[in-house]
Amino acid sequence: MTEPAEEKTLAEAAPSRYECRSCGYVYEPNKGDSGQNIPAGTAFEDLPSQWRCPVCGARRTVFDDIGAIDAPSGFQDNLSYGFGVNRLTPRQKNLLIFGALGLGFLMFLSFYGLS
Ligand SMILES: [Zn+2]
Repeated sequence: MTEPAEEKTLAEAAPSRYECRSCGYVYEPNKGDSGQNIPAGTAFEDLPSQWRCPVCGARRTVFDDIGAIDAPSGFQDNLSYGFGVNRLTPRQKNLLIFGALGLGFLMFLSFYGLS
């Protein structure tokens, strides 16, 4: 069974690694799986259907695509995002709430005084 060369090139440029959800084993396409006669450079998609996790024996469907080793990750920068209030301590939050209440009360008073 031969595959078209153009289908291989993309997979070889950035082969996805796959992690076993059952035991955490990571299939590295660059290394293959010598225990089951999988040569190095075999993409996970090209593994034989009877291939099992070499550690726990789980089926291929249990594996998750965790991306290539040097694939850019756009998630780390987003971790510091969020509303500023979430970073306040409970005491600071109370000050903020009562400060707003007090301000509203003052505005109510001034409105009451004007009418
Ligand atoms: Zn496993």
